[in-house]
Amino acid sequence: MSYPYAYEAPVSQTLFDRASAVTPGGVNSPVRAFRAVGGTPRFMVSGTGPYLTDADGREYVDLVCSWGPMILGHAHPEVIGAVQAAVTRGTSFGTPGEGEVELAEEIVARVAPVEQVRLVSSGTEATMSAIRLARGFTGRAKVVKFAGCYHGHVDALLAAAGSGVATFGLPDTPGVTGAQAGDTIVLPYNDLEAVRAAFAAHPGEIACLITEASPGNMGVVPPLPGFNAGLAELCRDNGALYISDEVMTGFRVSKAGWYGIDGVAPDLMTFGKVMGGGFPAAAFGGRADVMAHLAPAGPVYQAGTLSGNPVATAAGLAQLRLLDDAVYETVDRVAAEVSGLVSEALSKEGVAHRLQSAGNMFSVFFTDEAVTDYGLAKSQEAFRFTGFFHSMLAQGVYLPPSAFESWFVSSAHDAAAIERIAAALPAAARAAAEATV
Ligand code: PLP
Repeated sequence: MSYPYAYEAPVSQTLFDRASAVTPGGVNSPVRAFRAVGGTPRFMVSGTGPYLTDADGREYVDLVCSWGPMILGHAHPEVIGAVQAAVTRGTSFGTPGEGEVELAEEIVARVAPVEQVRLVSSGTEATMSAIRLARGFTGRAKVVKFAGCYHGHVDALLAAAGSGVATFGLPDTPGVTGAQAGDTIVLPYNDLEAVRAAFAAHPGEIACLITEASPGNMGVVPPLPGFNAGLAELCRDNGALYISDEVMTGFRVSKAGWYGIDGVAPDLMTFGKVMGGGFPAAAFGGRADVMAHLAPAGPVYQAGTLSGNPVATAAGLAQLRLLDDAVYETVDRVAAEVSGLVSEALSKEGVAHRLQSAGNMFSVFFTDEAVTDYGLAKSQEAFRFTGFFHSMLAQGVYLPPSAFESWFVSSAHDAAAIERIAAALPAAARAAAEATV
């Protein structure tokens, strides 16, 4: 297949060639490589507000926002100021510092079920540690997850059944052994009956259930009404911990993340992305009696050289403190406007699609059926996204380079940025209409 816009980025192409010589696939996280859509990944050199500029000097309206973190837009002056102030005091001490306390206090104050929190450096570390803690706390081995939910590249969680039937997880990737994935039970999303059946089949064996609070990693597939509450209840009834992964939704969809929207209290929660202000900071937290099992207070080991790093915590704290009701109102409004424009343009071209949203996260599925699980997500006409994506890119709008990712906006997406998106959409919708497998 040839991609009409693949060679319009000579500097990015040169950088990609150099990168590919020294880094597997030329990238440090697979989705950045454009494998799902083809063409040259754009190497970005700077970001301001809603815009990114690539190495060829082209500017894009950014609808990825670093996969969620940049909720205030790029290079927000107050976040940059906090980072500059922190960095001049030194970059890492390997001791406790006040910034960590302040960030933990901010999280605890915002999210009621979080009584105690431990800072880490990535969402992967947060979910990995939460699961270890749940196993240590309950003395049980098995973990329930849902097909299509991504929780970072934790060995035990890189398992998806695919059959749509409750089953033991098979590793999704070489390098994860059957033993590592064998205690993982993968179930279809939004299917409470499957969860009930799993608990019935494994009495006293399930340590925890982990779910994205509202999934954004198979495209945006919100929980059906009552689903999260049902999960919490089933976990409680069966002595398992309910872990809500809010790495993506946390502090993005409301002040208290998805918990602020559905009010279902988990036992443990995981955070990342927005709370780091664009730096590697993440966290897990929850019930104090569970967190008390974590070293050095308790026996479950967990640690990190750069955990609570002073620059990362300064960035995260500055960003969180700026996230008031007015910011969320703006981000929600921008998301509604942009998703409405996308849907309108696709409808005009007669392209079957579903625009799905969860708070201010949204994505488009090229199907006319509501998407409630991974099987339905995968059945969309993803090839239409390729044409759509490249048309938008050529017109200066940077979308997630995959049909199975959430789109993200920020409070910096002003009328001018939205106008640019609107202007690009008719041709992109036409490209989607004309796309062939
Ligand atoms: N959990 C969820 C819901 C995520 O979306 C992600 C990353 O996208 C992770 C965990 C892993 O976070 P990280 O990439 O920081 O390791």
